[in-house]
Amino acid sequence: MSFSSILRDLADYLAYEAEEGDREIEIAPDVLKSLGTAARRPPAAPPAARTLQTIADEVAACRKCPLHAGRTRTVPGQGSAHPEILFVGEGPGAEEDRQGVAFVGRAGQLLTRMIEAMGFSREQVFIANVVKCRPPGNRTPLPEEMAACLPYLREQIALLKPNVIVTLGATAIKGLLHTDTGITRLRGKWVSFEGVDVMPTFHPAYLLRYPKFKKEAWDDLQAVLRRLGREPPPVDRKRRAR
Ligand code: SF4
Repeated sequence: MSFSSILRDLADYLAYEAEEGDREIEIAPDVLKSLGTAARRPPAAPPAARTLQTIADEVAACRKCPLHAGRTRTVPGQGSAHPEILFVGEGPGAEEDRQGVAFVGRAGQLLTRMIEAMGFSREQVFIANVVKCRPPGNRTPLPEEMAACLPYLREQIALLKPNVIVTLGATAIKGLLHTDTGITRLRGKWVSFEGVDVMPTFHPAYLLRYPKFKKEAWDDLQAVLRRLGREPPPVDRKRRAR
């Protein structure tokens, strides 16, 4: 009980006794002692405001699922604090785990080219994953690991307020929507998460393995640009051919 609420109760009691005509009251020694203790107690600190940094700090200390055991560094995600687009993959790989940065390595380089083809830089968007620690041997994160980590992404979305989320690959959209539908059927169709429009598309690592799906992925990204009221920049044919 706070000191002010104890004082309020005491004032009510004294007012009642005065109305009853009592001029003296007895206060037990232990009540007086607890009043003194409450008066000396410092007021409770207001809850700290959540920021991207406080979330990253919490992630760095997190042990909510078994993935904490094998990580070198946590990968909370990085980019603009007010992005139009949030890209979400499934989880860090070996290079991301080493650097603590999302989407580096070959798949990350392709994602960078996709972002640039849309007319953005990596710094103008935010790039994150459903799980913030690397699954051992780059295995797919388990549903319970994604469920344990999802609150961090939810908080990031609430702070970032992106206009659109682009999920990369089957696992990312499964982690968000708890769906078993395959990415081939989901991609290119708008869905919603936490009130934000979501466009599921292929993972860049999948596009590296199966380049023939790059056209579909580009169609999805163009749909995102239309939703943002933007025109895709002029096609750099040399860049598209890579
Ligand atoms: Fe915590 Fe997420 Fe890492 Fe699991 S993956 S330990 S929930 S930060």
